[in-house]
Amino acid sequence: MPSEESESKYRRIEDLPSVGPSTADKLRELGFHTVESLAMATIRELVQAGIGEKRAFEIINAARASSSLSFIRADELIAKRQNILKLTTGSKKLDMLLGGGIETQAITEFYGEYGSGKSQIAHQLCVNVQLPLERGGLDGGALYIDTENTFRIERISQMAEHVGLDPQEAFKRIILAEAYTSDHQIFLLENADRIIKENNIKLIIIDSLTAHFRSEYIGRENLAERQQRLNQHMHKLIRLARAFNAVALVTNQVMSSPDVFFGESVRPIGGHIVAHTSHTRIYLRKAGRGPVRIARLVSSPYLPEGECVFRITENGIEDVEEDERR
Ligand code: ADP
Ligand code: MG
Repeated sequence: MPSEESESKYRRIEDLPSVGPSTADKLRELGFHTVESLAMATIRELVQAGIGEKRAFEIINAARASSSLSFIRADELIAKRQNILKLTTGSKKLDMLLGGGIETQAITEFYGEYGSGKSQIAHQLCVNVQLPLERGGLDGGALYIDTENTFRIERISQMAEHVGLDPQEAFKRIILAEAYTSDHQIFLLENADRIIKENNIKLIIIDSLTAHFRSEYIGRENLAERQQRLNQHMHKLIRLARAFNAVALVTNQVMSSPDVFFGESVRPIGGHIVAHTSHTRIYLRKAGRGPVRIARLVSSPYLPEGECVFRITENGIEDVEEDERR
């Protein structure tokens, strides 16, 4: 089955009717480098570039017609659903909890305290995404937007070797982007579409989604603006994941929640916006002092809540041997 990208009638944004060279430059400045991203754009976004409303409408429609992303018959929807791929985490139990792995075309959020294993999972997925489909990979590359200077190449090397990949080759399929502020983080994602296309990126990671937002927008009076920016950012992410049939993975910190007396005493940052935009949410916590972690599926579009354990070792994310649980 041909992919969406190869079905496109127009290959470059200049090829679209009513996009001349200067409009193309304006669009690129706004972060629209591909026909796919224009198909997902809103008129308002293009008007910001000084493009008239009528033309913005034409451009978006032409891009949509070209990449067949707008109207869809129910039987085609099934075909699109069938295009959804699943990426293995490295742990069979965790994959099972997630219904077979982490889905493309959706946002999956791992949240938990410092050291709970969020970034370790992100690293593992950067390696696993490179594996062929029959091994649970997506035969693609990873884009890692790192906001906390967390990415460690040595860790990739260990994990790659363990699954039988040449570390030097594995490094070449991971694109790193360090985000210094929340604005910079937004800018990087806004401009990611070309990199995603050119590098066959099948995994987009934002680690951490919320850290910059949390430290920059302090005080009640800034909360509304923070939430609006976060909302836009996550919608950009979901549009990219859909356009390129990629996994979108975000990590999130937790804060203690004094109003909860029973059950979990922590909750993820970002409130309703992050909660409603993440399709699948997993809460990670330590099980004692060792390498074992507990993953709880907190919300999913169609899977029941549940828990499993896995462990983090030198080799990466693995299943726990039965006698090692505590
Ligand atoms: P966070 O949730 O804050 O992102 P991390 O994913 O960075 O947490 O997890 C850090 C933990 O992962 C460490 O505390 C350690 O338990 C484990 N870890 C990291 N590297 C290794 C390694 N090379 N071998 C074994 N465990 C490791
Ligand atoms: Mg981390």
